[in-house]
Amino acid sequence: MAQLPWANWNGAAMPLSDVQVSVLDRGFLFGDGIYEVLRVYDGRPFLLREHMARLRRSLAEIQINANAQRLEQRMLEALRDSGVQSGMVYMQVTRGTAPRTHRFPQPTVAPNELIYVDVIDVDPYAAYRDAGAKLLTVKDIRWQRCDIKSVNLLANCMAAQAAVEAGCLEALLVDRDGTITEGSHTSIFAVRQGRIVTSPLGPHILPGITRGLVVALANRAGIEIVEQPLRQDELASIDEMFLTGTTSEVLPVTGVDDRPIGDGRPGPVTQRLVETYADHLRDWLAGETE
Ligand code: PLP
Repeated sequence: MAQLPWANWNGAAMPLSDVQVSVLDRGFLFGDGIYEVLRVYDGRPFLLREHMARLRRSLAEIQINANAQRLEQRMLEALRDSGVQSGMVYMQVTRGTAPRTHRFPQPTVAPNELIYVDVIDVDPYAAYRDAGAKLLTVKDIRWQRCDIKSVNLLANCMAAQAAVEAGCLEALLVDRDGTITEGSHTSIFAVRQGRIVTSPLGPHILPGITRGLVVALANRAGIEIVEQPLRQDELASIDEMFLTGTTSEVLPVTGVDDRPIGDGRPGPVTQRLVETYADHLRDWLAGETE
């Protein structure tokens, strides 16, 4: 097995600890870059096509001209060489290394491309899948292009830290109108009278890949799902809540700000989706779905 985390830096394979990045990298100086995180099961990247489509879109939105197909190839090589079976892949592209100016470098420089693969031995969220997670509401102070998976994550980091300091797993971001947007690194869903409610896509949230899969799975299972804004003042009247993300998968939420959601236990619709998700993953691993 390769030394983990195993990396590919601009085409060269090496342990992540050997990667050297210039301090003039625009990701380092400005957060001028984008990223993706994929989950690996049985040595295979889950939802690869969807993640690559989002990566291409993020690149296009901020006008970084990188070769996504070559990146995907390098990622698959890194994954194979790492020997990782259960793990994750991180991919990041920044606008490259150039003298520090706010405007994009002229002439254009080559993007800096980082890929690394690491192992996830045990499901870090297993305990929460049974007991449910608690969230802390935090003001959503992010910019107005949260649909771009940019490495500018300061507001997300601050929200996640506030949640941890309050003894919570995740932050529940609320915009200035009192509308729930998403978590600091997860998508948020509520259940009311058997119907799932989640924020519509738009510039205020990241189009979560797991969110997309859960919407499709709910539709297939005949569970009604509506994409409409959910307000913080509606939390008292919802029956269930759950969050989704690449590494958290589907996780029940049982409390927000020290108040229980529903009866304070993972609800039946959430549990059904946890199972449906696990079934889908099993079918995919068995080669029965794409
Ligand atoms: N929302 C935000 C802000 C995120 O950073 C993430 C993942 O990192 C998600 C939602 C979940 O997205 P995905 O399901 O693609 O992991």
